[in-house]
Amino acid sequence: MSVAPCVIVIDRWKRKRYNSKIIFGKASRMKIMVKHQQSERERQPEKKFVLRKQGDAGRQPAHSAKPPPAPEKKDKEEMQVMHFACELTEWSRAQHREGKKVGFVPTMGYLHAGHLSLVEEAKKNADVVCVSIFVNPTQFGPEEDFEKYPRNEEQDLQLCRSAGVDVVYLPRPDSMYASDASVYVFENKLQNGLCGARRPGHFRGVCTIVAKLFNIVQPDIAVFGQKDFQQATIIRRMIRDLNFPVEIITAPTLREADGLAMSSRNVYLSPEERQAALGLNRALMSLGTIGAGHPEAEPLIEQMRSIITQHGLVEDYVVIVDPDTLKPVSTVQQGHVALIAAFCGKTRLIDNRIL
Ligand code: AMP
Repeated sequence: MSVAPCVIVIDRWKRKRYNSKIIFGKASRMKIMVKHQQSERERQPEKKFVLRKQGDAGRQPAHSAKPPPAPEKKDKEEMQVMHFACELTEWSRAQHREGKKVGFVPTMGYLHAGHLSLVEEAKKNADVVCVSIFVNPTQFGPEEDFEKYPRNEEQDLQLCRSAGVDVVYLPRPDSMYASDASVYVFENKLQNGLCGARRPGHFRGVCTIVAKLFNIVQPDIAVFGQKDFQQATIIRRMIRDLNFPVEIITAPTLREADGLAMSSRNVYLSPEERQAALGLNRALMSLGTIGAGHPEAEPLIEQMRSIITQHGLVEDYVVIVDPDTLKPVSTVQQGHVALIAAFCGKTRLIDNRIL
């Protein structure tokens, strides 16, 4: 048997490469095996890239649309800030043409060390990293904190710069959704409990914005925090069910020295509330190590409840679930997840722990 490997460049953009092995069998039968070397993305038919029509819904009417200003091209090492979807897509395609892997960290800004740990993880798994900063209105309910959600663009850019981010995508607030947008991404199983049950429409907003960002940024990998366990699980399901060619990495929750999970919303807490907020992690830690004994879930849940109440927190939910289905379990084993959502004054905090 002889094997003749060669690289054939097929499409006119010279972006798809196939490693062709021609194998001659015993009975002079010839088999041609064509092995795709590159990602799923490149197996999909490529659309012609039209700068004017790509994304940025509502930014400008198409008939008067001017191409966006070219991103300020600076020093090779310098971080770029982009405001327009088409710039991002073009940048990402250029990276792929150079054979680079694009990593992506979607955020709502007001960055803290937890976000930066996701950047670090993305850098380990990709050649270039894009961070998006967008407070997504569609994931906030009418009574929620969209307007007052903390924002600090300058500080965020500085943090991204020092973390070695390559591109920050900073869409203008009115550019992401067309005023008559009518297509959404809706996951309909995992979202029915936990935060999804308390925040109707929240995960529809999350899935829709993440799907849009994936289409814009076209990442190879994307990093999400375990801090938002239900969100990460739902995004994985979306990736699977809608065939997004993106690998999802879930990174552990970064905590303050006293155990409080870092969150942009911690800024809402008064000094007393900041102390009370420790109840979430303390309740989770009180479960200790789950051995081989498969303890009943209910007493463990009661134990967590009593700790959060002692801290003056008001329970939204306290559960132990299966990590794949997010369904409550009656007996607990290693790998199950304890999750808490509780109000600390007016601030709703969440935390979880994989047991
Ligand atoms: P956000 O800006 O709150 O939408 O969060 C953006 C990403 O950062 C999400 O994937 C979160 O799960 C993740 N994240 C938030 N807080 C932390 C934390 N303390 N540690 C690690 N990741 C986090």
